[in-house]
Amino acid sequence: MSGVRIPSCPIFFIKIINKLQVRKKVMQPLRGTRDVLPDEIFFWQYIQARASNILALANYHEIRTPMIESTSLFKRSIGNGTDIVNKEMYNFIDQGAREITLKPEGTASIARAFISNKLYQENTIKRLWYLSPMFRYERPQNGRQRQFHQLGIECIGSSNPMADVEVIRLAKSILDALECSNYRLEINSIGNLEERNKYKQSLINYLQRYTNDLDNDSQKKLYTNPLKILDSKNIKTQEILYNGPSLYNYLTASSKKHFETVCEYLSYLKINYTTNYNLVRGLDYYNYTAFEIKTNNTNNQNTICGGGRYDSLIKQLGGPDTPSVGWAIGVERLLLIIQEKLKLQKLTPIVYIATEDNFIRKEILEIIQLLEKRNISYELDFHNHSLQKQLKKADKMGVKACIILRSYEIMNKCITLKKLENSEQEQFSMSNINQLIQQLESIQKN
Ligand code: ATP
Ligand code: MG
Repeated sequence: MSGVRIPSCPIFFIKIINKLQVRKKVMQPLRGTRDVLPDEIFFWQYIQARASNILALANYHEIRTPMIESTSLFKRSIGNGTDIVNKEMYNFIDQGAREITLKPEGTASIARAFISNKLYQENTIKRLWYLSPMFRYERPQNGRQRQFHQLGIECIGSSNPMADVEVIRLAKSILDALECSNYRLEINSIGNLEERNKYKQSLINYLQRYTNDLDNDSQKKLYTNPLKILDSKNIKTQEILYNGPSLYNYLTASSKKHFETVCEYLSYLKINYTTNYNLVRGLDYYNYTAFEIKTNNTNNQNTICGGGRYDSLIKQLGGPDTPSVGWAIGVERLLLIIQEKLKLQKLTPIVYIATEDNFIRKEILEIIQLLEKRNISYELDFHNHSLQKQLKKADKMGVKACIILRSYEIMNKCITLKKLENSEQEQFSMSNINQLIQQLESIQKN
């Protein structure tokens, strides 16, 4: 009889079952989102600690706004013709039929918070910072996610060019403190609304002659958001733009003066910059100064920081006339650059508590309370492993010492302390656990 010969060996079936199990769909995070695991969290805490220290010196204070806002906030501030509002927002209708959006950026929410909480009543310049997740429905790639984080600052309440200089200087100080050095600062002035509108019209008039030669994206933007065409990476489009009108020529003397003062002070501070007359930001609320900090690393997502002045945003949202300036750094993009340079500092406990037969005695609970009081980190073994195995694990973890409790210690009313550095062991009487803690404190210091 012909047919398929099924091997009699049960291993064959075990292998098939294993394969089927592997194929079972493992739960994954949503596309464009990812988990930050404990090994990486050190970098996040480090960035936040360094940045908040520097910002505190300049009197910047942390602000936390909600993750969700009314969709209308972003439509009114970022602008209807922008990519963020048109394509990238996570919108939903809640049970109360409200249109809600997961915040795609921080400035609009802070402007709203400034108005809602009447922060203007204090009549001082408000200097604020935030580090928060943001959400944009984009095509995920290296350095571009759907949930990402921005570290941002806002200097609210001054039209002085020195405020522009202050925020740019702080961005540099933070990047330098984080050992992110291989970057360049590009700066431009996009003037005020009136100047921009005049320029927009002449840009449209010029580009209309070349509509068919423009890249597809630029063709679409010609009537919705023509300024963004300046940003196009397409070589043909850039060639066309080269002979076109320049936004700078449409700036009035006072706009130019503001820009020149910013540049002058950046030079005075020896902050290198290049003027990029084609630099426009993707959000409608910016005016006058616009800037970006780009890494020289050759990956596509090379903008790590974007910012600028937004003098009419707060008024536009119903608040008082409050000129402001700020920026946001993409934390994931920054991490990609600095992660290799920063030494990974694994947070290993100081002491490992090993017990025989996995029997957690009351004496151990007492020791643990003392360790907590004295700020000594520990890990208590919950596995049912032999003492030998526990000690091996402690060694692998890199702890400095082991507290050992076996039947020997119970019988002799003592605790053994083993230093892993030289394998020295010392016994401490249970009636004098304080001595053991003191010893651990000195081990912790070394
Ligand atoms: P890009 O041109 O790269 O899309 P953008 O102009 O949309 O940037 P901004 O809105 O100015 O970016 O945001 C400030 C910074 O936030 C960016 O420079 C970048 O570092 C970071 N960022 C923006 N979008 C993302 C994203 N989808 N994933 C990771 N980081 C992002
Ligand atoms: Mg974008």
